[in-house]
Formats: sequence, C-alpha cells, structure tokens
Amino acid sequence: MLPPCKYGASCYRKNLLHFAEYSHPTSITKAGDSDSGNDTDVYSSDEDDKKKKSDKKVAVGDILKRGMSLVKTYSQMTEDERKELIKKAFEAKQKLQKELEETKDEIKKKDQALEKLQKQVNTGMLLVDGEKEALEGKKTVYFPLSAERDYKEGSAAQTHFRLAESQFYRLLSGTSYSSQYRVDKVEYVINPELVKRFKVFSGYSFQFTGTFSFTQAEMMKLIKKHGGTQGTAAAFNILVASPDEFSIKTNKCCTAIKKGLPIVVEMYVYDAILNKKATKYSDYEYDKDS
Ligand SMILES: [Zn+2]
Repeated sequence: MLPPCKYGASCYRKNLLHFAEYSHPTSITKAGDSDSGNDTDVYSSDEDDKKKKSDKKVAVGDILKRGMSLVKTYSQMTEDERKELIKKAFEAKQKLQKELEETKDEIKKKDQALEKLQKQVNTGMLLVDGEKEALEGKKTVYFPLSAERDYKEGSAAQTHFRLAESQFYRLLSGTSYSSQYRVDKVEYVINPELVKRFKVFSGYSFQFTGTFSFTQAEMMKLIKKHGGTQGTAAAFNILVASPDEFSIKTNKCCTAIKKGLPIVVEMYVYDAILNKKATKYSDYEYDKDS
C-alpha cells in the first residue's frame, strides 16, 4: 500500500513516477465532472490496478506529454485517465527498476578480467586499427578477427575476439551444442550511426543535486548504462536538480548557471532512456531567471 499524497485529487505534480510512489483517489466526486458513464470504482490498491484491464483505452498522449511528464494536472483528468496514468506510472517505474536489475546482473555475471576488458572497450581505450576513423565516418566498417592470428597480448583485436568468444560460449552453456562449436573467426562491426543511436547519453557528463525518485547512485548507473559519464563538481555538462535544490541555488546550480550549462529536472533522464533517444534537454530545463 502506498502512502497517500497529501494533495489527493488536487495533486499538481507532473512527474509520472510520483503517481507510482503515492496513492491518489481516482474517483471524481464533483457533479458533472465525469464524462465516463461506466466504471466508477474507487482506485484502492496497486494490486487491483494490475489485475484490472480497462477495456476503454485512454489515449496516452492525452495524459503524457512525453514519456514521463504530464500535460494536465491530476484534478483535470477523467477517471479513466487517472487510472491509465497510475497504470503507466507503475509500468514506467517497473521498467526503470528492471533496467537497474539488469545492470546489477550484468556486472555480477561477468568475471572480473572480462569486466575490466569490457570497460576498456566501452570507454574507447581500446581501439582496433582503423576503428577511430570508422567511428568518425558514416560508413559501416567490418573488422575480421581470427583466433589464429598472433595478436599482441591485451591488444584491442585480441580483446574483442575473447569477449565475443566468451559470450558465445556462455550463450551455449548448458545446451547440447556447448561442445560442438568452436569460435575461430569474429567479425567486429562498427556502424557509426548505430553507435550514436544506441548510446543515448554519449558525450554527456552528469552531476546531480537533490533527492530524486531513485538514488543518485542508481541514476548514475542508469546514465552510465546508456553511454553517459559522471562529471566532477567542477566539470560536467548537464546538471540534474530537484526543484528544492534549484530554488535554493546550491553550489552546483551556481556553477551551471555561471558556465551557461543546462539544469534539468530528473524526468529528462528517464524520458531519454525510455524513448531511447536524447530528447531535447531544453524541454526539461529550469528557468534560470526564476
Ligand atoms: Zn500527488
């Protein structure tokens, strides 16, 4: 059971996740306010919400402007919209939590040597010959790697071969195929457009100020998973701030303002991840003149 939101039906919050953290009444009490004649059940618990599949589809676009922020306030919504909103809030929260679990699982599964190598690959410390040029270009480039070739210990080519090999064997482990196949050739493919599209936050370094729907450490994990990095207090290029911290202008806020860097609400991070693209951050920026 969720704690009730102190604003109840007149809640003004626009953060979708808020509706998965606090309970809100879904019934419309004011006369003539509801245009839906069917279901007037009072929303009682998230358990009920999950079981209940409303036949009447509410257009999500009516409730959500982007992935995570609401276009209208809760009090303006119909009963169906409120129910749909709460359902969406739980789905979004679950999806983000699953992402976090995956991040934890991935790290646990990898043995440390491979994890270290992977990190070197991900941070671009290890590049095969010609890879840098391929990443800067527009064309897809193929790099054939073979087991026989005598790669230098710790070289990028050897690392990629080993990573692919171990992932392939892991995939087959426990199946009857596990002893039938041997990896002797790996094709390493660089598709620069795809690389850019996959890494939502590539090129961005983040800092946080305030408390959010997730802990700062969890948010950092999500950001790193999607190609972003952690900036330092003095050097970052995007600041995620809570409304409270923004209003009191913490040191980090002042740094961002001084340097002309964007200060955004946490929804920016979730929207970008859920939409799989770096949504325009200007839509999520605080008004620095306020
Ligand atoms: Zn509320």
